[in-house]
Amino acid sequence: MTLRYENVSFTYPGTKTGVTDISLQIGRGELLAIIGASGSGKSTILKLLAGFVQPDQGRVMVEGKDISSQPPESRRLGVVFQNYALFPHMRLWENVAYPLKVRRMSKAIRRERAIDMLGRVGMGGRENDYPTMLSGGQQQRVALARALVFEPLGLLLDEPLSALDAGLRVEMRDEILRVQRAAGIATLLVTHDQEEALSIADKVAMMQNGRLVQVGAPHELYEAPVNADVARFVGQSNLWRGKVVATGTVETEIGAMACDTTGRSVGEEVIAFVRPERIEPVIGKAGKDQSQVFSGIVAADRYLGPIRRIDLNVEGGVIRLETHLREAVTTVAIPRDAVRLLPAS
Ligand code: ADP
Ligand code: MG
Repeated sequence: MTLRYENVSFTYPGTKTGVTDISLQIGRGELLAIIGASGSGKSTILKLLAGFVQPDQGRVMVEGKDISSQPPESRRLGVVFQNYALFPHMRLWENVAYPLKVRRMSKAIRRERAIDMLGRVGMGGRENDYPTMLSGGQQQRVALARALVFEPLGLLLDEPLSALDAGLRVEMRDEILRVQRAAGIATLLVTHDQEEALSIADKVAMMQNGRLVQVGAPHELYEAPVNADVARFVGQSNLWRGKVVATGTVETEIGAMACDTTGRSVGEEVIAFVRPERIEPVIGKAGKDQSQVFSGIVAADRYLGPIRRIDLNVEGGVIRLETHLREAVTTVAIPRDAVRLLPAS
């Protein structure tokens, strides 16, 4: 594995905050997104690999080599932070060529490589401009070119797109993915945008209070979150408190539900979790497989273009559903295999 954390712990001096027992690996060409609430330790993870802070325990490795005590500039990692500003007094090509200057390459080669890299991030022909002549999105492209120009072994991106407008953000994230794939570079992307993480990452790692709570493919975090916090963080969800009352049945705040109770014991408190798009509207008569049917009153009905997001007030709670149907929905079925049980706390 190209980038690797082995049981890394770090606490900011004089505080009790930091990260605990982080183990992660990112292969060549792979993109791992780190998500989690503000203050959960995402940036600290990046800083440990970039070399801005050193682990108290464990080690960080690049291509099998322990780099924990190397200074940042000799780690061969490209870094783009949210506000990692370009040098305003330098032309774009000089900005991009800066890491090559630090590495004492000749001016002719520096210029050639910088211009080539600018072309690859869609900024061809702008090499003699200054940063102040660019939009925010263009500046981030140049920052990306600067991080990639010395052919780094890894790319570390800390919320590189959060200062941009929604449309540009989507465009830029596809671009980052394209450049990163073309160069085959192991990449760590910190983001608080779960849609961004799910859509471009090979793997997603969720942080909570300085610890990794789940690492997996995007669909694993979405479909099989390990707890209610992960469920809430990556998308919309129904989370009903309940208790296993018999094998295959859970009694929830909105009523009894058939579900897989494997690994749970009778009497155990749980949370029943269902994604809104798995709730099936019942129009007309319920089919015979729709054993768990709930009726209620529409509390909210939001039109979002391709879908509607409906809150149905039922006895004991709310069912949130998403549907592309245009009819009024007051009755729904919850398929047995749509229900997953999560720990109660
Ligand atoms: P995130 O990027 O997920 O928002 P950080 O990794 O920046 O979180 O921060 C994790 C925790 O460490 C937070 O509680 C934060 O306040 C604390 N922290 C971050 N940087 C420092 C610092 N330089 N000194 C002391 N505490 C810090
Ligand atoms: Mg941060």
